[in-house]
Amino acid sequence: MTARILVVDDILPNVKLLEAKLSAEYFDVLTAGDGPSAVEIALNEMPDLILLDVMMPGMDGFEVCKRLRSDPKTRHIPVVMVTALSDVSDRVRGLEAGADDFLSKPVNDVALFARVRSLVRLKMMIDELRLRQATSGSTDVLENGPLGSESEAENARILLVEDNQFTADKLVEFLTEAGHTLDRASLAAEGLGLGHENDYDLIIVSLRIDGEDGLRLCSQFRSQEQTRHVPILLVLDDVDLPKLAKGLELGVNDYLVKPIDRNELLARTRTQIRRRRYHDKLRAMLQSSVSMAYTDALTGVYNRRYMNSHLDRKILEIAEAGKPVSVMMFDIDHFKPVNDTYGHAAGDEVLKQLAARVADNVRDFDMVARYGGEEFVVIMPTTPPEAAFMVAERVRNRIADTPFPIPGREEPLEVTVSIGVATTIDPSEEAASLVARADASLYEAKRAGRNRSCSAELPTPPAGDQVAAAGS
Ligand code: GH3
Ligand code: MG
Ligand code: MG
Repeated sequence: MTARILVVDDILPNVKLLEAKLSAEYFDVLTAGDGPSAVEIALNEMPDLILLDVMMPGMDGFEVCKRLRSDPKTRHIPVVMVTALSDVSDRVRGLEAGADDFLSKPVNDVALFARVRSLVRLKMMIDELRLRQATSGSTDVLENGPLGSESEAENARILLVEDNQFTADKLVEFLTEAGHTLDRASLAAEGLGLGHENDYDLIIVSLRIDGEDGLRLCSQFRSQEQTRHVPILLVLDDVDLPKLAKGLELGVNDYLVKPIDRNELLARTRTQIRRRRYHDKLRAMLQSSVSMAYTDALTGVYNRRYMNSHLDRKILEIAEAGKPVSVMMFDIDHFKPVNDTYGHAAGDEVLKQLAARVADNVRDFDMVARYGGEEFVVIMPTTPPEAAFMVAERVRNRIADTPFPIPGREEPLEVTVSIGVATTIDPSEEAASLVARADASLYEAKRAGRNRSCSAELPTPPAGDQVAAAGS
């Protein structure tokens, strides 16, 4: 995931430190040494995220944040406040000024990247939604409000898994006072059961639950359908901080160190709940923003006409954002015999299921479109050639791995696809040309034996490799 991040701090070594950390993870970094230039750079460069120092002479971080939020052009850019003070009141003020999250100095790398990644992902959904709305000429609903309003964090339903009576009582007291509803579990299995049966806005897990590993529980929450997308807040002792990296890797969203500070608890809870609800709203909007005129009647994905005009806009954006756009085109292998043998209705059923399976295996902001009869295109914003090829291989394997059930037929049907991938970073390349290059790679994949992916940008792997990989 490439993204452009603006680092704002009046102390140069602080800027340099963050710049080095972010560049090492392949983020593009812009820098500003004071408030006014931060606002100006944000306007001109449209970064994907801003890391904003609070204490700066002249215009401080709170003021910068307010200005960014009051301008419709910069309103949707996520802001993470970086506070030198351990003073929690600063954080609360930061959130009031419109910040989306906060980090304290010295900045912990794991916490930094966890926040950056999750906010960048959110920003990409916002960008994609705005562009889709522009393509279809609808008014931009998102311009009406900042990144998820404060009120969206109220009346949450929270699951607490903590066996320490004292900590649990405190958490329940603070969160209930704040208007949330809590369910309590003191055993991992009990927590897992509740998570399975209910619809929570947030799960708080203690790292140590009665001798069990809290991280194991977190990973179970992540793999369970009902809790997959519910934010998890980990509660731990400072001696357990070394385990945090593993936790964040497993999908923990944020953490609190004991003893629990009331304000910090409330601020972090609010941030997570707000972001989750906003994320859900965005996803729903992305899924429903499509009018009938732009979708394919059989599969429900976008149609070719919409895809073409959207792709033209996406490519033009490269001039501003400088990020590569990739396109994947695929075609079902030997599809004609499917129709000939099992009938046209069975063929249609395969097309429907296939489109849904592909949509499930790409990101929310990637666009799946039906290009022709049994040809589909996926537009992948912000994706370099190597990553696009990896996605193609994942999609190809997911289709080949699991045969498609057909009503009225006992045996499910094995289906494979051939995929061509192409990438551009040239804002003057036309959508038609990019798609044509993907199509040429698709042709290459067919010629090389089918059930494989080829990239216009990468050397073709020796024949046999990919097909072997499909079975693994
Ligand atoms: P390959 O791509 O591997 O070269 O072989 P193929 O048999 O898939 O290729 P071809 O392009 O010759 O055939 C495509 C077939 O897709 C023709 C048609 O029967 C089928 N097809 C196209 N659109 C639809 C559709 O909307 N519904 C159904 N059921 N079949 C379709
Ligand atoms: Mg075809
Ligand atoms: Mg075909």
